[in-house]
Amino acid sequence: EPTIVLFRRDLRVDDNAALAAAADRGAPVVALYVLDEEAHDTRAMGAASRWWLHHSLAALGHRLGHAGARLYLTRGPTCEVVAKAIAASGADCVFWNRRYDPADAAVDAGLKAELRKKGLTAQSFDGALLHEPSLLKTGSGGFYKVYTPFWKAMVDKPHVRDPIDPPGSIDGWRGKLDNLRLNALELLPTNPDWAHGLRETWRPGEEGAHARLREFIEYGLAHYERQRDFPSQLSTSRLSPHLAFGEITPFQILAHLRRSKSSGASKFRSEIGWREFSYHLLFHNADLAKSNFRPEFDAMPWRDDKRMLRSWQRGLTGYPIVDAGMRELWHMGWMHNRVRMIVASFLIKDLMIDWRQGEKWFWDTLVDADAANNPASWQWVAGSGADAAPYFRIFNPVLQGEKFDPRGEYVRRHIPEIGALPDRYIHRPWEAPAALLKEGNIELGKTYPTPVVDHGAARDRALILYQSIKDAV
Ligand code: FAD
Repeated sequence: EPTIVLFRRDLRVDDNAALAAAADRGAPVVALYVLDEEAHDTRAMGAASRWWLHHSLAALGHRLGHAGARLYLTRGPTCEVVAKAIAASGADCVFWNRRYDPADAAVDAGLKAELRKKGLTAQSFDGALLHEPSLLKTGSGGFYKVYTPFWKAMVDKPHVRDPIDPPGSIDGWRGKLDNLRLNALELLPTNPDWAHGLRETWRPGEEGAHARLREFIEYGLAHYERQRDFPSQLSTSRLSPHLAFGEITPFQILAHLRRSKSSGASKFRSEIGWREFSYHLLFHNADLAKSNFRPEFDAMPWRDDKRMLRSWQRGLTGYPIVDAGMRELWHMGWMHNRVRMIVASFLIKDLMIDWRQGEKWFWDTLVDADAANNPASWQWVAGSGADAAPYFRIFNPVLQGEKFDPRGEYVRRHIPEIGALPDRYIHRPWEAPAALLKEGNIELGKTYPTPVVDHGAARDRALILYQSIKDAV
């Protein structure tokens, strides 16, 4: 009897344990993607992720087609869709790769129980993470809340498995099943079509992921440690959306790094470790996107200021490095890590807006929006997270800009209206002499905003409010 393989955020053929095991069984394979938007507690995908998913499914369909299998596309509650697929195909076995978001894991646990009750085989495999969060424990049996010992425990593990070879060919089941056309999943933006920047930038799918990894290892890795904080350079891997959709696995990345002698390899590996750490936190804290990891932050008097929130979302705060980041995000669905930290600090500490508002905006606009990395990183910046940056470390957006974009290239790329300013004023246009502004056709308050808050005063306010919650506990 056929084997059903469920695809979710593991949109690949290589290093796919569930698919390889199904092919090994020797029975026909039903490759099934279920767009489950009804599951209890699972979070609706953001718009940029939906765009990515559309193209990634197209790429997966192609690859599977080449290998001999057809990808069936369906939507509905997972259990119901799988039951229908079993009835139609006569499958006796359902395989999938494990998910670690507790809400998704609950859906899969329910599915497993139901299938086994019916006497069918249901089996889950690893693939998304180097180590199962359920198995990695501290000496006292708890879970890790601090990154360094967490990563040390992982690095000390003697062996990370090699990637699993793709099946040479797959005996694809070709019968009739409820099958939607890709467009019927309605994942793409229609009116307006805001995705042109995404189309220019990305190549979703497994082949695009591996092309990017190869390019990064060849040209980027050697400079990674030195240049990774400079947003004007293409110095990071930009693998994040590929990892978020499971088009490439950390096992594959590590296997490539093992072959590389580059000095950047160890730093890069430890960033992959941060992703593992975020998943470890999410696995043990289902509410990572909803609740402060440190409950004392529940007392923080956040400001509900829609006008300020909007100026941040649109890249109109008057602080060039913040605005450049927010516009990069809007344009290409991605933002450089250093700038993510700066814009997040600005929202939380300069504007005193709840980190959850920022997390939500990122969730909707990032192509790499990730259920673990996004909330864990926001909580890290807010100071409310596990092993977080201390709250009182407040980024100065001008100094950060001057340090990490000293020639203003990044700012000029995204904010052409102040591009004529010399380097000296590019991060502080309000200090530029009137003649220079005039020469550059810049009218502050009209062509580009004046700062929405004074950073010095905002910093003092943030510190007082932080003190108030500390005093309260
Ligand atoms: P590289 O530097 O090339 O790193 C390689 C990979 O390591 C990344 O693809 C990512 O999977 C992982 N990684 C790197 N840095 C981190 C980090 N600090 N935390 C966790 N994993 C990391 N990353 C996401 O994947 N999804 C998100 O939704 C997300 N939201 C963020 C929100 C905020 C406020 C901040 C400060 C960071 C966020 N990050 C998120 C982490 C980080 O910014 C991105 O992973 C990184 O910028 C992606 O670019 P890259 O692939 O070129 O990174």
